Amino acid sequence: MPFALSPDRIAAARAFASAFVPGRRVCLTTHVNPDGDGLGSEAGLARLLRSRGGDVVVTNPTPTPSRFSFLFEDMPGVDRTAEAIKVLRRADLIVVLDISDLGRLGMLGETVRERGVPVACIDHHVSEGVLPEGPRYLDAGAAATAELVFEIAHANNWPITEDAARGLYVGILTDTGGFRFSNTRPRTLRIAAELLEAGVDPEEIYLEVYARAPEGRHRLLAEALQTLVVEPEWGLAWVTVPPGAIERHGVSTDDLDGVVEFPRSIEGIRMALLFREMSQGRIKVSLRSVGNVDVASFANRFGGGGHTKAAGIALSGSLSEVQATVLGAARAYLGPRGPNGR
Ligand code: 5GP
Ligand code: MN
Repeated sequence: MPFALSPDRIAAARAFASAFVPGRRVCLTTHVNPDGDGLGSEAGLARLLRSRGGDVVVTNPTPTPSRFSFLFEDMPGVDRTAEAIKVLRRADLIVVLDISDLGRLGMLGETVRERGVPVACIDHHVSEGVLPEGPRYLDAGAAATAELVFEIAHANNWPITEDAARGLYVGILTDTGGFRFSNTRPRTLRIAAELLEAGVDPEEIYLEVYARAPEGRHRLLAEALQTLVVEPEWGLAWVTVPPGAIERHGVSTDDLDGVVEFPRSIEGIRMALLFREMSQGRIKVSLRSVGNVDVASFANRFGGGGHTKAAGIALSGSLSEVQATVLGAARAYLGPRGPNGR
């Protein structure tokens, strides 16, 4: 069965695309510490719109990690993150990708809120936060925002060029953990197949994203894994990034991507956590679950959010305070394991 969209999704994607009026200056943006899906979706959409003569740039709240800079290499000048506020002030349309929440736009939130131009949104998150008004293309069932960008292109008969396809493939590859997570649906693989048919070289993308690591990424991983704590009685496991370790290894928070999969992949674990200090007094917690544990609703209690099996929280306090609070709540949330290991 080839990839196909239902008539109502086609209508929604066409209505959404009508926002891209020729001559409008478009800014694409995504969440702080952008990941492969946020950046890949931006690169893909920027390419698709530029192919149609659109005036489009990328303005993110925090810089593009070096692992993903290859995405913008063929579009010199498209990544205007360094002067995001200035560029956003001239935009006629802002497109927010991979979040529905102004709070996750970091220092750009205020500018986006008060601009008074339409703020479009393409997203696959469950929690529909607050954004200024504008067109929406949302589906919490999609594995990645990049899938939704593909759908918009498909429904509008925009040709998927090879360079647009690369960005979208990066989004799907990274948000599915390399097509391993439960969000990988038949539709996900059909879209991935279309992207390969458009010319994507999967090995080249794998090398760029995962296999051209700075040495410090692996040294940081080694240090983080040394901190592993496992509580089989609760099905809980966590790691902690030693304060200062990221800087010491000359890497960035992006290099922690995937580290939480290690505590998660221990037999019997139902919830895995990664703690790191963002700045003095601000702690980031990454949450992952196995089976039917819903970490998005757990994260909501602390003002965080995300997906059922992958969520995050940012909290004030010291590392040890936040760990005590979050781990205590996690034990209560999970409940002790029964004698036959429920
Ligand atoms: P990660 O742990 O990889 O940073 O994030 C996993 C998922 O959790 C992301 O896709 C995002 O949906 C969500 N998430 C991470 N950090 C936060 C946060 O501080 N607030 C909210 N609302 N969601 C977050
Ligand atoms: Mn995503």
